[in-house]
Amino acid sequence: MLPDTPLNSVSHGRTLAPEDTLLSVRGLQKIYETDGGPIEAVRDLTFDLGKNELTCLVGPSGSGKTTLLKCIAGLLAPTSGEVVLDGKTVTAPPKKMAVVFQEYGRSLFPWLRVGENVELPLKNAGIPKPQRTKLVAEALDNVGLSHVPRSYPWQLSGGMQQRVAIARAIAYQPEVLLMDEPFAAVDAQTRADLEDLVRQVRRELGISVLFVTHDIDESVYLGNRVIMLSSSPTIVQEDLVVDLPDERDQLETRALPRFTELRHHVYEQIQLAKKGFRPDAAVTT
Ligand code: ADP
Ligand code: MG
Repeated sequence: MLPDTPLNSVSHGRTLAPEDTLLSVRGLQKIYETDGGPIEAVRDLTFDLGKNELTCLVGPSGSGKTTLLKCIAGLLAPTSGEVVLDGKTVTAPPKKMAVVFQEYGRSLFPWLRVGENVELPLKNAGIPKPQRTKLVAEALDNVGLSHVPRSYPWQLSGGMQQRVAIARAIAYQPEVLLMDEPFAAVDAQTRADLEDLVRQVRRELGISVLFVTHDIDESVYLGNRVIMLSSSPTIVQEDLVVDLPDERDQLETRALPRFTELRHHVYEQIQLAKKGFRPDAAVTT
């Protein structure tokens, strides 16, 4: 049985002992200053990511998922609170972090070949050519694209282009991979393949993945854990452990009664979030 979320539960995600923690989000708040006045997108987020975890993040549209990812990636400064990676506060894009966005079409350079696209961040990081060549080959192999290093992105399908974006991120050998609704624009079959690819690279490369999705089934299938966000101004609605076997299979896992229970639970929580339910309501009103 899943516990009911008590109305006045602490609106924080799970935290870990320092030795188990890779990345910490602490009291993160983000207020956008706009011409129309301040917009508090994110109010107070606290959670830790452990090593080699695949954490999914779900929440209603406009609940600040992209804002949170940008703050974690050092692309946006929080208004208060902090992001700590390997014990250091993030103030600029950290070396050991890579991001894959939804709009892969715009994230690849059309005038560069596939291999060159993957190589570019390594070049910018000053990695010597022989090592770059090896990393690019390995990354393309990891995503099943060894056969197209000399193609241009526009010669590939949407799913293959997204594989290139993933290859570029993993070639960079990040400790943390942030993915913001990366499969929203690909067809269902490709999406299933890419989901398994993400689980595979996480396992093989031992990296930590924070995966934003609006797809509840995807969050339960992929994650070791699902963090559900409230509607904006955002707090953690619930931080749920996905206690499914670690070996996932698109047909078998999704057919498990436990999978159905978990997806029901996440669905209910997101519906509540959409209706404006907040675990901090008892405190703030
Ligand atoms: P999500 O990714 O969950 O859909 P976002 O992080 O994109 O949510 O947006 C959260 C809230 O912050 C929304 O109300 C959105 O309108 C607002 N917002 C996002 N980016 C900006 C910005 N650059 N300036 C002002 N408001 C923004
Ligand atoms: Mg978004």
